[in-house]
Parts: sequence; C-alpha cells; structure tokens
Amino acid sequence: MMIGSLFIVSAPSGTGKTTLLRQVMDKVERLVFSVSHTTRAPRRGEEDGRDYYFVSEERFTSMIKAGAFLEWAQVHDNYYGTAVSPLANRLERGYDVILDIDVQGAAQVRSADKFPCVSVFVAPPDLQELEKRLRGRESDDERTIARRLANARRELERCHEYQYLIVNDRLADAVRMLCGILYAERAKNRRAVDGIVLDERYR
Ligand code: 5GP
Repeated sequence: MMIGSLFIVSAPSGTGKTTLLRQVMDKVERLVFSVSHTTRAPRRGEEDGRDYYFVSEERFTSMIKAGAFLEWAQVHDNYYGTAVSPLANRLERGYDVILDIDVQGAAQVRSADKFPCVSVFVAPPDLQELEKRLRGRESDDERTIARRLANARRELERCHEYQYLIVNDRLADAVRMLCGILYAERAKNRRAVDGIVLDERYR
C-alpha cells in the first residue's frame, strides 16, 4: 500500500520555486525531493544526483524506450523526466515526495493515474516582476529570457489545472502556505490510510 503522498509543484522559471522548495524541505520532516533526469548542462553550483541526474540525450532516449519514466517533457530545448522506480520506493516507505516538474509533466502524472497526487502551482505576483527576476539571474542571455517569458505566459494560463495556487509575493508567506498545504494533505492521507486502524484503536 502507498503510504506517502506525491506533491507536484510547478512554476514558471524565475518564480522563486527553487528557494521556496529548499526552505520547505528544511522545515518539513519525512519529505524528500524527487531528483529528475535532464539533458541540460549543469548550472554553476548544481550537483549531479542532488539537483538533477545530468545525462546525455542518448541515455535519456533509452530510458524512455525502457519505460523508466513516469513522465517526461521537453522544456526550453532540453529533456526532463521523472524516473518511476525510486519514486514508488520512497512512497512505499512512507515518505512524502515533491516533484518539481512543468505543466506538461504534471498533466501526464495526473492522466497516468498511477499515483494519487496533490498539485500546487506557484505564480509570480505579475509578469513585470517575473521579468525583473529573470534578468536578475544574470545567467541567461536576451533570447533565453524572451523564451522563458513566453513560456511563463503559456504556463500561467494552465494554473487552473492545479488544486492549489500560491502567489510568491513574499517568500516567507509562500513558505508558510506550502507547509500548510503539505501538513493538511498529510492529515487527509493519514485519515484514508489509517482510518480503519484508528477505528479499532478507539473502540
Ligand atoms: P530548470 O532547467 O530551470 O532547472 O527547469 C526548467 C523547467 O523544467 C522547470 O519548470 C522545472 O519544473 C521543469 N522540470 C524539472 N524536472 C522536470 C521533470 O522531471 N519533468 C518535467 N516535466 N519537468 C521538469
């Protein structure tokens, strides 16, 4: 029986999702991050096996063929995917798992219907603020920034596909909000999994 819960968190790039997730992971016990496979090159400070598994396109394609992914998608010219077996393993061991994936991947996880999931969309306060944050990163050129902004618009149009929406205006508020969602869903899951046991215990 699956015990942990699966949380999908999607956000256009530049929304501050990475910082938000880091802070939440530090605060909430028994919560793990699903490390995706990607064909993109590591950014400065990123570590293989911690941020992503950085793989070649060849390796990625052979994993698709082998059915290793729960979902995969092409985002900004690179491939990204979630391997299914480590995920199932952690859920079975009672860990809640966070998937940091894009809107295409989120739709695939929902329609695969393999694991029940809770989905959260993180939005920037507005597009001007998003552009400012993207420029502030200084790691991307004009073309990349323009593409990320266009992509963000398309992603924002799909925020209604998610069960929860967090507007990341102030980081501390967003952290509180996401922790609240995680704990509330944990209690709901507990009710579903332990309901019968509890009924017996309190008889
Ligand atoms: P970045 O290259 O900035 O780390 O990520 C770009 C986008 O890819 C983000 O929106 C992120 O959520 C998404 N992403 C990361 N891992 C996965 C994955 O395994 N599957 C899918 N579908 N998207 C992913």
